Amino acid sequence: MIQIQPINAFSDNYIWLIYNQNGDALVIDPGDATPVLEALKKQNLSLKAILITHHHADHTGGVGPLKAETGATVYGSAEESTPGLDVAVNDNDIVHIESMNLNFHAFLVPGHTKGHLSYYDGIHLFSGDTLFSMGCGRIFEGSPEQMFNSLNRLKELPNETMIFAAHEYTQANLKFAMAVDSDNSDLQAFSFEVDKTRTGLQPTLPSSINLDKRF
Ligand code: ZN
Ligand code: FE
Repeated sequence: MIQIQPINAFSDNYIWLIYNQNGDALVIDPGDATPVLEALKKQNLSLKAILITHHHADHTGGVGPLKAETGATVYGSAEESTPGLDVAVNDNDIVHIESMNLNFHAFLVPGHTKGHLSYYDGIHLFSGDTLFSMGCGRIFEGSPEQMFNSLNRLKELPNETMIFAAHEYTQANLKFAMAVDSDNSDLQAFSFEVDKTRTGLQPTLPSSINLDKRF
């Protein structure tokens, strides 16, 4: 059994923390080391691995200090430069975290960046800045076609797949959706729910493939 917990960073980043009952942990996209070290200490966890979806600083800024402090193994895209990289990950590689007995399927999903990866363990998808709740990442390095293909690839995952994206963008994406589809009562109902969640400063994630397909 694993637990998954968001660590807030910057204004709207989530650093996802995964840990098991033995106190072993991994993080995905630690843009900042400080809140991660705090969480590890507070929960008495030992960091074994760091998974990176893409090279942007808000996803990698904490890698150096975290690796120095914990000796965790750093996994990242073979097509991008990641600070402190130990294992270069290619499309369809299985990232095996031995000490935690976890396996992640890596999907190369270019568009936001040219070597962006998403990691999937069979039920949880860590989508980075490719797929958010109700939207996708900005196209910085790839082409619209690449992003479209990447999203279609993730769309093939089972409906119940839970999406752990790297930013809290749901409200902003919903605003756009309602601007272009103003009579959609499903959107209005979902927006009401999301606003309530955000008023309490709770994450609107995980989302799901089902939900994103529905909208
Ligand atoms: Zn990014
Ligand atoms: Fe980002």
